[in-house]
Amino acid sequence: MTEYLDLIRRRREEIISRADAALTRAGRSWSDVKVMAVSKTVGVEQVLDAIRAGYRFFGENRPQELVRKLEGLEAAGVSEDVRFDMIGNLQTNKINAVLGRAACIHSISSLHLAEAVSSRAERRMGEGLLAAPQPVLLEVNVSGEASKSGFAPDDLRASMDALRELRGIHIEGLMTMAPRGDKGRARETFAGLRTLRDELEATYADMSLPELSCGMSEDFEIALEEGSTLVRLGRVVFDPAFELE
Ligand SMILES: *Cc1c(COP(=O)(O)O)cnc(C)c1O
Repeated sequence: MTEYLDLIRRRREEIISRADAALTRAGRSWSDVKVMAVSKTVGVEQVLDAIRAGYRFFGENRPQELVRKLEGLEAAGVSEDVRFDMIGNLQTNKINAVLGRAACIHSISSLHLAEAVSSRAERRMGEGLLAAPQPVLLEVNVSGEASKSGFAPDDLRASMDALRELRGIHIEGLMTMAPRGDKGRARETFAGLRTLRDELEATYADMSLPELSCGMSEDFEIALEEGSTLVRLGRVVFDPAFELE
């Protein structure tokens, strides 16, 4: 076994035991929780090690990199059922590269982008190139930081009727990023995402938003305590220098 594979195996055990403890504290079970390994900073070889260590779900923040990883795994003859999601800012001219390839696009940050993804997906469906509407999450700027992208909560409320009309996308839930280095504000952000989801589901009785994508290397335990169904872990999975607290 290589040293690197050994490291990410041990990390994975640590992540799972910490996530398990957080879920127990919150009275939750694993049944609605997924762990994504964010592979944006590593190469195909490291992704292959991560698959050997047991990961099946990956995230990338650039379309070209997502395509490169998928092609790399195919070239390596990976037979496991592996999923890749798009989690980073998406420019409209890159949408076609990820449609159908990304199992879910987490970074739908505006009505304009949602419309652009939907119209391209509808066209592909019409051509028989895409089997179903593209699964997406709506990125929300819960913390209100100017540096963060995403719908402001009021903006999302105001856009919901229009979003629900879009036939080329399937909205599966919400995604957010917490302020860095402040556990209290991180918790507020995750709780705010859950509360907003509950409010939208109450407003639109026919709409279900089961997925809450939140929590990263430094705050995934807090996110799981606050209802996250999908933690996106980069450094804690792949970076030998990252130190878990
Ligand atoms: C990089 C990235 C992550 C993972 O961050 P870490 O702090 O390395 O765990 C999660 N989500 C998004 C959107 C990212 O860009």
